[in-house]
Amino acid sequence: MVLADLGRKLNAALSSLNRAPVVDDKVIDALLKEVCAALLESDVNVKLVAQLRQKVKAKVKAQFDSGADRGKEANRKNVVQKAIFDELVQLVDPGVEPYKPKKGHPNVIMAVGLQGNGKTTTCTKLAVHYQKRGFKSCIVCADTFRAGAFDQTRQSATKAKVAYFGSYTETDPVSIAAQGVAKFKKERFEVIIVDTSGRHKQESELFQEMVQISEAVKPDMTVLVLDASIGQAAEAQSQAFKDSADFGAIIVTKMDGHAKGGGAISAVAATKTPIIFLGVGEHLHDLDKFAPQPFISKLLG
Ligand code: GDP
Repeated sequence: MVLADLGRKLNAALSSLNRAPVVDDKVIDALLKEVCAALLESDVNVKLVAQLRQKVKAKVKAQFDSGADRGKEANRKNVVQKAIFDELVQLVDPGVEPYKPKKGHPNVIMAVGLQGNGKTTTCTKLAVHYQKRGFKSCIVCADTFRAGAFDQTRQSATKAKVAYFGSYTETDPVSIAAQGVAKFKKERFEVIIVDTSGRHKQESELFQEMVQISEAVKPDMTVLVLDASIGQAAEAQSQAFKDSADFGAIIVTKMDGHAKGGGAISAVAATKTPIIFLGVGEHLHDLDKFAPQPFISKLLG
């Protein structure tokens, strides 16, 4: 089920509450069943869905017990709807503030993630985003694993009018990353984005390489780039990256496609890390800022 369908189903479940003559346990249970089924169909982690159900029930009970509904059905409906809304927001809000680049300072951002997730595209989008906001931005291509990676960076960075660094001959990604970051720091760039290599699988060499690059460039923020279609594998994958790369932010790509998105969303709770942007297309400007509350409001339409 794609995200728009999830929104429609959640919305339909919530508005069915408006039609219920009384708000009793049976009605609340039926509503929660619908909400949870929709979340599961979208690949949101099973444990998270079970937690959401319990938390909503506990919150609603506490509110009813305290007399917050003043015995009125309309108030009872509001209590239930608000509890569900708040818990949906909690799903995508780890309560952690992401790093914010500072002007006049070399902010190093390192991107990690498996091959094909959209890392290289996202690096250019990020550079464009910060450049538009007045940060002198650039990209270092430290992906020596994938043939053609540097060409891809060169082409997209040229199109975006963003400075870039890489090498056709150097095979050591750590050395390229260190050289590129040193060069751009000297030239007073303010946002220096380091694109690292991905592999098809989570492999120990990939993680070792990421740790070495990270030690060499000392990023202010490491970003995990996750494909929205990852599904239930998100928890294990994001946890594996977290253990070695310790990323501080997530960007979910391909949210414009037919992906369910719920899996990638589950990575937030699994790693207690905030999503900062959503990739919503293949073009340079297809990057949306992410914030939990507006995202859920928009989802519910
Ligand atoms: P990498 O291997 O992780 O560096 O992945 P790439 O940046 O090369 O992207 C892989 C493919 O995904 C390319 O065809 C991109 O155009 C596409 N892609 C990346 N981000 C998005 C997105 O947000 N939406 C869509 N529709 N495609 C994307």
